[in-house]
Amino acid sequence: MDVIIKHLLGLAFNHGIGVVETRSLTSHTPSFAVPKKKTIILNMNWYNERELPLVLAHEIAHIFKDTETATTTSTTHIKCEGAADAYAISLLVQYYYEYILESEITLLNIENFMTMFAVPSCERWKVVKVFEDRFK
Ligand SMILES: [Zn+2]
Repeated sequence: MDVIIKHLLGLAFNHGIGVVETRSLTSHTPSFAVPKKKTIILNMNWYNERELPLVLAHEIAHIFKDTETATTTSTTHIKCEGAADAYAISLLVQYYYEYILESEITLLNIENFMTMFAVPSCERWKVVKVFEDRFK
């Protein structure tokens, strides 16, 4: 998990995106992106640590696509937020294939991917699509 966070941070860095990893937010304060400032505030206290790679990839997508983080106090913000999620999933699938250990090769499937990154089930169809595109 950490290795994927590290690679996402590297990707952000290579694109001039600043990521502020903060531990001063509450466990239910969503991370967010400020495209105009190419900055991401990443809440390291997030209650579900497994979601962090998806959260970070999602915020990177906001910067790449120059779309503001939806303004909402809902903790379900990261769920089902259209384009940013689709892009985030394709980024994570790429890392999932590149950095999975050889001993874990049998884990390469949609269900394990969904579990590993705590992808909400409403996003399953996006994961399916990315996996399918990969094996076309
Ligand atoms: Zn968002």
